[in-house]
Amino acid sequence: MEPLPDRAEVAIVGGGIAGLATAWALVERGRREVVVLERDEALAAHASGRNAAMCRALAEDDAWTALTAAGAAFLRQPPPGFAAGPLCDGRGLVLAVDDAAVAELAARAARFGLAHARVTAAEVEARWPGLGLGRGGLFFPDDGCIDLGALADGFARGARGGGARLCTSAEVTRVVEDGGEVVLETARGRVRAGQVVVAAGAWADEVAARAGAPGLGVVSRRRHVVALRASAPAAPIVWDVGAAEWYVRPAGAELWASACDGDRVEPGVIDARREAEAEVRARLPAALATAPLARTWACQRTFAGGPPVVARDAARPWLVRVVGLGGHGITASAAVGRAAAALVSRG
Ligand SMILES: Cc1cc2nc3c(=O)[nH]c(=O)nc-3n(C[C@H](O)[C@H](O)[C@H](O)COP(=O)(O)OP(=O)(O)OC[C@H]3O[C@@H](n4cnc5c(N)ncnc54)[C@H](O)[C@@H]3O)c2cc1C
Repeated sequence: MEPLPDRAEVAIVGGGIAGLATAWALVERGRREVVVLERDEALAAHASGRNAAMCRALAEDDAWTALTAAGAAFLRQPPPGFAAGPLCDGRGLVLAVDDAAVAELAARAARFGLAHARVTAAEVEARWPGLGLGRGGLFFPDDGCIDLGALADGFARGARGGGARLCTSAEVTRVVEDGGEVVLETARGRVRAGQVVVAAGAWADEVAARAGAPGLGVVSRRRHVVALRASAPAAPIVWDVGAAEWYVRPAGAELWASACDGDRVEPGVIDARREAEAEVRARLPAALATAPLARTWACQRTFAGGPPVVARDAARPWLVRVVGLGGHGITASAAVGRAAAALVSRG
C-alpha cells in the first residue's frame, strides 16, 4: 500500500478512470505533488473495471463527441511508453441505424473528422458472416475494443512515474478548509491539499456533501452486460441505435451483449437482475440469441444532466468536480483527464 503523504498540491478523491486520468494529466503538465485517494483496496474496481470496454468515437451529441473523438484518438495513438501494445484493437464498429438518421450521424462524424462509411445490410453481413442483422448503417473502421487493464495501468504508471501517489483503502470521510488550505480526513489519516478534485463517480454528490458543497443531482443508472459462449474473432462491434437499442462485441471466446438498459439505482455495488439475460436475447439477431450463457454482470453509469461536468465550485475555488462520465468514460478518459488538469492548473 502506498504511504499517504502529509501534503499534496492536488488531492483527487476517487481512483476510477476519471481520477487516474486526471492524475496522469496533471503529471503530464509537470505537477508532481498529486495524490489519488481511493476508498477501495483496488483502483478502477467499480464502473471503470466493470464496463464493456468499447471505443465508440461518435457519441449522441456534439458536446459528448468532442470528448469521445479526442479520447479515441488518444487510444489509437497513446504517447510513447504509455502501454506495451495497442489500447484499441481497431476491429471497427457498425452503428446500425435507420436511413432517416444516417445523414445526421454521418454529418457529426464528418465534423469531428471521424473515418466512417455508409454500409448496407449485405456489407454488414460480409463483415460478420452469419450474423443476419438485416440492417445497414455506418461503419467506423477506427473504433474497437479497448484493453481496459492496459489503459488504467498506463494512467497509473505514468502518474506514479511523475511523483503522484495512488493510495487505496483511503476513503475520504470529511473535507474542511483550514487556513488557506484544505484538510482531507481519510480512513488512513489526514492529507493537506491546495486543491481537491472530486472524481468519485456515482458517489460524487456524497463526497461533495462531505466537503460541505451542494450536490449536482448526479443520477446512477444500472446497465447489464451478458457474456455468451460464442466467438467471432474478426467481427466488428455492432451497436443498434434504433428504438430498441442493443450492442454486441466480440471478447475472446465470448460475445458481450447489452440491451442498453438504464433503470435508476442508488450508488453502490450493483446486482444483476435475473431478467436481464432474456431482455438481451430478445434483441439479438436469431443467430446469437440462443448462445449459451457464460455470466451476467451489472454496474452503474453516472450522469450529471449532459456531458461530463469538469468545473470548479463557484463558492469553493479549491474544489473541482470531474463527474458524470455516463456511458463513454473509458473512451473519453484521456480527454476528460486533460480537461480537468487544465482547469486545476489555472487554479
Ligand atoms: C455496464 C457498463 C458498460 C460500459 N461500457 C462502456 C464502454 O463500452 N465504453 C466506455 O467508454 N464507457 C463505458 N461505460 C462507462 C464507463 O465505465 C464510466 O463512464 C467510467 O468508468 C466512470 O469512471 P469514474 O472514474 O467516473 O467512476 P468509477 O469508476 O465509479 O470511480 C469512482 C471511484 O470513486 C471511489 N470513491 C467513491 N467515494 C469515495 C470516497 N469517499 N473516498 C475515496 N474514494 C471514493 C469509488 O470507490 C470508485 O473507485 C460503461 C459503464 C457500464 C456500467
